Amino acid sequence: MIFRHSILNLKVSLMLVLLTGILGSCTKDYEYSNFKSKKVERSYQTKNVIVVIVDGLRYTEGLGDSTHRFIPLLANDLAKEGVINTKFYNLGDTYTSAGHTSITTGINQSLDNTGAELPENPSFFQYWNQVYGNEQTKSWIITSKDKLAVLGNCKNPYWCGKYIPSVNCGIEGGGLGSGYREDSLTLKTTIEILKQHHPNLVLINFRDPDYSSHAGIWVDYVNGIRKTDEYVFRLWKFLQSDSTYKNTTTLFLTSDHGRHSDNIANGFAGHGDGCEGCRHIEFFACGPDFAKGKVVETNRQQIDLPATIAELLGFELPNSKGEAMFELFRRR
Ligand SMILES: [Zn+2]
Ligand SMILES: [Zn+2]
Repeated sequence: MIFRHSILNLKVSLMLVLLTGILGSCTKDYEYSNFKSKKVERSYQTKNVIVVIVDGLRYTEGLGDSTHRFIPLLANDLAKEGVINTKFYNLGDTYTSAGHTSITTGINQSLDNTGAELPENPSFFQYWNQVYGNEQTKSWIITSKDKLAVLGNCKNPYWCGKYIPSVNCGIEGGGLGSGYREDSLTLKTTIEILKQHHPNLVLINFRDPDYSSHAGIWVDYVNGIRKTDEYVFRLWKFLQSDSTYKNTTTLFLTSDHGRHSDNIANGFAGHGDGCEGCRHIEFFACGPDFAKGKVVETNRQQIDLPATIAELLGFELPNSKGEAMFELFRRR
């Protein structure tokens, strides 16, 4: 099994290397649509937004497990600081690239899951950079999975190659074709980047528990959940210890997709369809503008997350049907 996996990884890596050249150029024949963003007057205390995506965590092993045995730090320590939504879903394709794309663009779309295809639409990074004229080091995409380097750009010819964030994806941040990086190293790199550049807008992907669960070994899956629980908590602790981030930073925590329900296909070992297990994911938010120790049950989906970021940071998110999640905010 491990041998087959490594052959497959090698093939995927080779393919990614070959495709890197293609991705360098933007699609020319894509229908031109110049949807620019605009500045919106804002009145929030949030100055920085950090989005953490824990890859492929099924709700039933996260906040949906009343014992919280695999996520003790989130449930016992972090939860007091913010808001949980118990009804948060991926309503697009339940794969890594598509789930992340819904979160960055606010539009559900199908796209290749190997890193061979850019999202169709600009991300909240591009809109924010366009509206506020930020330097590239003020926004970062930092991911364990190298293929997620595609999140930094899009096909739309007006936006392709413009207003793009800094990207640090895969092994040593080498991007597409470099391979998957250990989550411990992604956390380390993240903290280094935060210390050095103090970016205001960051998306982080941890490859676990997805990476450790595909072989179908339960103990590996839950250890992957425990590890990412610890990494998210360590990140939060860092934010509270840093004078730039303390009390001015919003942290969102969610997943790109869940995993099959136990009675569907290969259960927790897989994902990719529309079953409850694949769609239902964890959601937590905290920061100066959010309620503390609150649980909401408002039906929401991934595309509502970028709409909420746009609301907090003061820009429009054109063409997205996502809605800002006002129920998370504290009363003012
Ligand atoms: Zn997966
Ligand atoms: Zn499923």
